Amino acid sequence: MPNLQDWSMSIHSIGNRILFLIGSAVMVGLCAMMFFFLRQQEQAILAQNERTMGLLATSVSQTLQTVMLSGNAEVAEDFAANLTATPGIIDFRILRVNGVEAFHDNETINAVNSRLGDEAFHIKSNPKPPNKVLSDTKRSTVHSGLFAKGYVADYAMDENSGVSSVTFWAPIHSGEECAACHGENERLRGILKLTTSLVPVQNDIAHAKMQGILLLVVSLGVIILLLLLVVNRSVVAPINRVSNAMGDVTNGDWNSKVPEDGKDELSRMGQIFNTMTNELQRTYSGLQSERNKLTTIILSAKEGIVVTNPLGEVVLVNPAAERLLGKSDQQIVKEGFINLLDDPDYVQNYLDTNGLEMPDTIVYNSRVLNFYACSIKNDDGSERIGSAALIRDVTDEKKLERQLRELSTTDALTGLLNRRRLDEVLAEELNRAKRYHMQLGLLIFDVDHFKRFNDEHGHDQGDRVLQAIAAEMKDHFRNIDFPCRYGGEEFVAILPNTYPEGAIKVADRLRERIEEMVVDGLKVTISIGVAVYPQSPGDEPDTLLKSADNALYRAKRSGRNRVIFADINDAPEEE
Ligand code: GH3
Ligand code: MG
Ligand code: MG
Repeated sequence: MPNLQDWSMSIHSIGNRILFLIGSAVMVGLCAMMFFFLRQQEQAILAQNERTMGLLATSVSQTLQTVMLSGNAEVAEDFAANLTATPGIIDFRILRVNGVEAFHDNETINAVNSRLGDEAFHIKSNPKPPNKVLSDTKRSTVHSGLFAKGYVADYAMDENSGVSSVTFWAPIHSGEECAACHGENERLRGILKLTTSLVPVQNDIAHAKMQGILLLVVSLGVIILLLLLVVNRSVVAPINRVSNAMGDVTNGDWNSKVPEDGKDELSRMGQIFNTMTNELQRTYSGLQSERNKLTTIILSAKEGIVVTNPLGEVVLVNPAAERLLGKSDQQIVKEGFINLLDDPDYVQNYLDTNGLEMPDTIVYNSRVLNFYACSIKNDDGSERIGSAALIRDVTDEKKLERQLRELSTTDALTGLLNRRRLDEVLAEELNRAKRYHMQLGLLIFDVDHFKRFNDEHGHDQGDRVLQAIAAEMKDHFRNIDFPCRYGGEEFVAILPNTYPEGAIKVADRLRERIEEMVVDGLKVTISIGVAVYPQSPGDEPDTLLKSADNALYRAKRSGRNRVIFADINDAPEEE
């Protein structure tokens, strides 16, 4: 997770962005204002200068007029020359109305002298050639400007020196008193040209600009500082508080809260964050407790549980799994899920087929284990997030199951197969005999006068005799034969693949053995009916049994302690 401090310092932080945005807007606004203000000030300085110079030109004009009227026109030239030497004044000239520089030649003196009729003014001994200062075009512009405004100002810049200057054109008015020398009364007697340097003014303007820029920089600095404070206090600090709290929560400190003071959006965000943290904390605690329960269940389960991550690495082994597999947790993790039962093919096949058509038990370490494995999918079933194996020790169950099965198929008194099992075996064996065209022998015998025996020696003694007969049967018949207790003191033996002579011989030997058998000093005899498929009547279990029983009946009637083969006489009656 990035360091919060780094974020707040970063150029991309919200505070810096807001500062940049507002700061840029303020700077553009201030610069525009400053530009406008400086321009105004520059124009004001120029206008002020213009007014001052206009007044100067007017006062010079009036001074000149006074000099002229006092009859000292020749002083005017010197006056003009002296004025030019004044610092800041670049040029000063007195022009006639036609734009030619006055006092250079004798044109005006001659005209005045001729008007006055004598040599009132001395003729210049070294007149200069006429100097046309104002072109005719410029002259008309200046004339109209003079009549309209009182003076004309022309701004210019010397391309060589770069020095700016302003030239004022001011009128020399013609009064009535001028007419004595100059004749008819004209409105304009002449034009003054006064050119002054703009350097001091430009210096003033530059100074004003410097002050303005300084003010701008200081204002901007103060504004940005204030903005920094406000943004930091109102935006950055609250966001950092929420971010820090989020960081704490991410690092597991659920108790971290954001102060909820204030009514702005960030305070609301803080409130929502706190509510969210509380909810998360509750949910997390719930999950934690569920997980604890689950862990307890898994750890204390009798079933072995092994779980992998999506990469197939074993991540959970419970103590039962260690016990059942006889391996340590570390060994199971090291060997991997596939080697759980030391039979990778079995586990792989199981996973590949989802356990279908796989034996549900496997003998491992002399124990019968029930193995179940499956893939664990994510919520929408699109991704495998691990595998799990459930291993159950079913050794005792299987033993019990076998015992139950034996109990349900064997007779409690004699340990022989019971009547229910007899029916199943007879049906199976008869089918097999039919299918493979084999013979099937069937013996049924009954103890002779057993009612009397019981009466004379007691029922328990009778039971002992029945047990002794069963023992004889177990000993007498082959492994492939099925000795059964049919019920009471009646027994049956199924003899697969036995022809009639053989069946009769086996029956007769049994009869002899029972006859010779002595139980507690007592003896009994038996009568036997023998039927063999397909020689005897009956090709179904019940009919074949019936014909054997009929033969037994015949043996009883014909004196007992004998064997009778079931023939046509013993055919069961049609129902
Ligand atoms: P038969 O020679 O005609 O067979 O004469 P029987 O007396 O044996 O007559 P039957 O077979 O009809 O009598 C069966 C007798 O067997 C009745 C009963 O007292 C006796 N019995 C049947 N089941 C048991 C048993 O489980 N234990 C004992 N002790 N006696 C039994
Ligand atoms: Mg009987
Ligand atoms: Mg009997």
